[in-house]
Amino acid sequence: MPQHPTDRLKIADIAGFDRFTANGKLSPARATVNAALIGNPRGSYGKDCQPVESAAIKALMVTRNVGPFSVTGLSPAVSALTAVMAEVRTTHPDLHDRLGTAGMLCCRLVRGSATAVSNHSWGLAVDLTIDKELDTRGDGFVQRGLLDLWPIFNRHGFYWGIAFPTEDSMHFEASDQMIHRWAAEGAFGAQSGKTIPGALTVGDRGPRVLALQRALNAALAPARIDEDGIFGPMTRLALIDFQRANGLAPDGLANGTLQKRLGI
Ligand SMILES: [Zn+2]
Repeated sequence: MPQHPTDRLKIADIAGFDRFTANGKLSPARATVNAALIGNPRGSYGKDCQPVESAAIKALMVTRNVGPFSVTGLSPAVSALTAVMAEVRTTHPDLHDRLGTAGMLCCRLVRGSATAVSNHSWGLAVDLTIDKELDTRGDGFVQRGLLDLWPIFNRHGFYWGIAFPTEDSMHFEASDQMIHRWAAEGAFGAQSGKTIPGALTVGDRGPRVLALQRALNAALAPARIDEDGIFGPMTRLALIDFQRANGLAPDGLANGTLQKRLGI
């Protein structure tokens, strides 16, 4: 049977592929770090896209044709995406011409969360379509074409959303490493150089948060928080209880000392 970029493959059945380690050393962008290094796009967030309120952040947004489509996003992320697409055009010309986007800049919460701010709010994540089809989030399947794109995105410092606790295979975002690099290069102007929060806290998500939730559930048995990889208010309350029970300052921050105490 001919292979097509929109063929859907069951992620668990892909030989030699582990979605949790697919991104190698790259880590997902962190809302707390983005806020410190880039700034806050808005004062509050909802389920749907809302405009950027901050004039400084608005000034960092560009609209550009990146090859197969035009998109609005954070200037350095759009430049990196342009480089990705130039490579895709060379190595996968047919796939390149089938690509489209469901958007980059969109100030909103993470789908299904009441607290975690999406990395789309900073215009540093892109959602891709192939032949105008959007891969369904959380269904455990991935479009074949996205598997071809992943190593190229990784090489350019983008983190693939297939590794999120709820897989989001059509989503690629600038990794935490790229945000730090751009900040060090002065890409975010006056915001650059602010103190970076090291501790995990409300708004963070990803594998480190998932490890924290599992450890808290084990420590505070019976389990009481959803292991969804999103640091929300319930995770914070559980963390504070753990801190109180262990004679630590109940600040709701999972810093290095606390992570060591939990064995993560
Ligand atoms: Zn996305």
